[in-house]
Amino acid sequence: MKISIIGIGYVGLVVGAGLSDSGNDVICVDKAEAKIKALKENRIPIYELGLEELVKRNQKEGRLSFTDNLKQAVIKSELIFSAVGTPSNNDGSVDLSDVYKVAEEIGDAIEDEYKIIINKSTVPVGTAKKVREIIKERTNVPFDVVSNPEFLKEGNAVEDFMKPDRIIIGTDNPEVALLMKELYEPFVRTGNPILIMGIESAEMVKYASNLILATKISLINEIANLCERVGANVEDVRRGMGSDPRIGSKFIFPGVGYGGSCLPKDVKAFIHIGRAHKLKMHITKAVDSVNENQKKIIFKKIKSHLGNLENKRIAIWGLAFKPKTDDMREAPSIITINLLLKERARIYAYDPVAMDNARKIFGNKIEYGRTPYECLKTVDALVLLTEWNEFRNPDFEKMSRLMKSKVIFDGRNIYNIRRLRELGFEYYGIGRG
Ligand code: NAD
Repeated sequence: MKISIIGIGYVGLVVGAGLSDSGNDVICVDKAEAKIKALKENRIPIYELGLEELVKRNQKEGRLSFTDNLKQAVIKSELIFSAVGTPSNNDGSVDLSDVYKVAEEIGDAIEDEYKIIINKSTVPVGTAKKVREIIKERTNVPFDVVSNPEFLKEGNAVEDFMKPDRIIIGTDNPEVALLMKELYEPFVRTGNPILIMGIESAEMVKYASNLILATKISLINEIANLCERVGANVEDVRRGMGSDPRIGSKFIFPGVGYGGSCLPKDVKAFIHIGRAHKLKMHITKAVDSVNENQKKIIFKKIKSHLGNLENKRIAIWGLAFKPKTDDMREAPSIITINLLLKERARIYAYDPVAMDNARKIFGNKIEYGRTPYECLKTVDALVLLTEWNEFRNPDFEKMSRLMKSKVIFDGRNIYNIRRLRELGFEYYGIGRG
């Protein structure tokens, strides 16, 4: 099939590369010229396992190309995906300006052939309808608008796109449904479902899914905080709960709160959408407020242990909002570091892949280590914020020699408390009694 993807960010690039890999001709469009130039030279602007190889191979074989010329891409394609960003406005509502701008540009670009416009971005119910109106104002050529939300996880995005749990297609046109099924058939050969539904329901599935995920995290964090007060160990509690198949063991890991480009903004959007429809979103609001508090929890622990933080030297391991990504959007590390900086602490940070993004956020307000150990020299404490594999089993003897005070704040509960205490470390986790 002939396909365009507009908006080549974390989602668009993976979708474009993935669809080209199954034999489609894919043109990726972005307004960021530097990004297009880099991609043409096989330089990948984000860190995502397996993506570089996919882009290189498909570009070499002529199925994948990059351009900033949206009009030409639209003319050449039957299926046009829009995967532009949908960030939060200050009041929590969704900023749909890029979505609507792209709709206008598509409407203006259509010449004389039928097109299917597919929305991949996470958008409130009613957006597809509005996109249809915008395009209709600009062309008399027939077209369809489809909602096809994306569920990939950063850090595992290629694998998730190539082997999705489910595909959601929102359309009111049975022929379009068949075509979309054909497009996705190669990705669900093990029998995972392609679910066809109304456009509004498809738009809602994405928010509802993210809300459940965020709820699980806020709930386990609330449980962890109570565990701490009553002397229980949330790690035992988590395992005990997770064995119940109705609860399940996934996504109930306590920590420093959820971050990233999706859960925080989607939860806030859900609250706002409810408000717009005069519905109080009690649980969603609680999920959001628990998370806002949780992002400060490590700072509170550090403050209560170290007291005056002025000139205290603090090492931070992990800056990305989760492992295996360089994405720092809404990362809990930003909150923790900013709170520490406000108290005039000195920060020495390391992340395996997010250092460039961290420099864009903190500049020279913090120092950056070339290795995790380099950050530890004469520090008053180590704070672990992202559970990268390389932090899981470090050389504790070496750490003991480097650190001034042997204190670890483990924001992801990855360390064995007994072992650390035997080695003379003071340990603070999340909800571990
Ligand atoms: P992103 O910010 O990484 O990328 C968006 C891209 O769109 C940018 O490269 C930007 O230059 C481009 N763009 C904006 N306006 C444009 C225009 N008029 N013409 C051409 N290009 C334009 O965003 P993302 O993280 O890939 O997210 C995209 C959407 O997918 C969002 O709605 C998000 O909620 C959703 N989503 C994201 C993830 C994720 O893990 N990142 C997962 C599922 C769904």
